[in-house]
This record gives sequence, structure tokens and C-alpha cells, in this order.
Amino acid sequence: MIRPLREVPPCLACRHTPGHTALCPSTDPETTYYLRHPIPNGHRDWTPAGIRYTGTPVRRTAVRALMAKTRWERMLGDPQLPMFPGLLINEILAGLGTAARTATRVGYTPVDYLSTLDCSCDPWRCRHEYDAGTDPSPDWLTEPGTHPDLVVTITLLAMELRFADRWQTYWFASTDGAVCLAIDEVPEPSRPGISVACQRRWCDQCPGSTHPGTGDTERPPCPCPCHTGGAS
Ligand SMILES: [Zn+2]
Ligand SMILES: [Zn+2]
Ligand SMILES: [Zn+2]
Ligand SMILES: [Zn+2]
Repeated sequence: MIRPLREVPPCLACRHTPGHTALCPSTDPETTYYLRHPIPNGHRDWTPAGIRYTGTPVRRTAVRALMAKTRWERMLGDPQLPMFPGLLINEILAGLGTAARTATRVGYTPVDYLSTLDCSCDPWRCRHEYDAGTDPSPDWLTEPGTHPDLVVTITLLAMELRFADRWQTYWFASTDGAVCLAIDEVPEPSRPGISVACQRRWCDQCPGSTHPGTGDTERPPCPCPCHTGGAS
């Protein structure tokens, strides 16, 4: 359904109309998410920057379906990426600054894309596709009056980061640039003394020992269970 122009649709985050509730994330420029969902062992934050592409259940379902088709490449040496999305991934890495060193994998969706609407609505109050019902395909695609130029296709990019206490995955829509749609966070403290390779789940790259600390005469063994036949 497309709401008529004279109607002010409720805010996608706080459901209020025509204003917002005091705690609505749309009124807080510092806020990092408008919606938090559980994922296995962690959570996913849907970002305000991406609400245009993720603001309705139908749109989030489409984004999740595309996420499942991500092709991952390890950030090992110089990963072989096609020109697109390679250049955009390099831009994202440059934007991360020193945190780029924590990047373990990059992902992209080479075989599929998202059809979405580049409408001129306030992204918090998009008039399109409110009553999706059970039909998973957005009805503006077939709605008479949807100008074909408004329909845009975007691919997804992902970047996985490994910190000492958690994993983070940033999901980007690649439009003219990269818009962050969601951030996944999975807490998982690193095993003390583990090698960098095993901490990143690159167990095939670990020599089985780690850098000697001050006063050590030999390299201490890496405590990752992969070296003793256990699962890492
Ligand atoms: Zn609101
Ligand atoms: Zn709209
Ligand atoms: Zn390992
Ligand atoms: Zn190891």
C-alpha cells in the first residue's frame, strides 16, 4: 500500500504521528540504532542511516535474504576482489583508520541485489509498503504509479571485525557510496595467549605457537583447541 500524500504516516521507529515520542531514535543524532534484534549469540542493530532500506518488516526480510547470500573473503594478504566491490571496500577500510587492522573478512553479494525504492519520503515516515501482510514482495513494485526510475538496485557489502572481546559485522548498502545498514555484535572473549590467526578463526594459518613474550626463551604453544584435534 502507498499512503496518500495528505496523510502523515506514523514514525517507523516510535509509531507516533505527526510528531515523535521523547525517546524516539529519530530525534537523537547520536543514536546508533533504531531497532535491536537478537541473532545467534548476540544482537543486530539496525542503524538510523539505513532506515530508508530497512525501515519496514518487508524491507528487513529482503535485506536478511540478501545477507544470507554473502560471499566472504578472508583479509589475508591481498584478498582477490573484483573491482566492484573492491574499491568501495578499500574506502570503507580507509574510513576505519587503525581499526582496519581488526578486519578479518569482507563480504559482498555477487549474485543478487535488493530492489528498493529511492522515494522522496522522510525516511522515518516513508509512505510506501506499510500493509505488507504476508506477501513478502513489496507492493510498490507492482503498484500503478510507481515510477520505474524510483526503483533502485543495491548490493550488500559486509565487513567482519575481530576485537579482543567480541566480533562485529558491519553491513553496508552500496548505493552511490556505502550506507551502513546494520551492525551485528557477538561477544566472545579471546582465549588468553591465543595466536592472532586462531583468534580470527584462521586456524589453518596458525603455526601452533605464538610470539614469545618478554623473558620467554621459546615460542609458547597456541592454546587454540584446533591444535589438539578439538574444535576451535
Ligand atoms: Zn519517531
Ligand atoms: Zn517512501
Ligand atoms: Zn585454531
Ligand atoms: Zn593456533
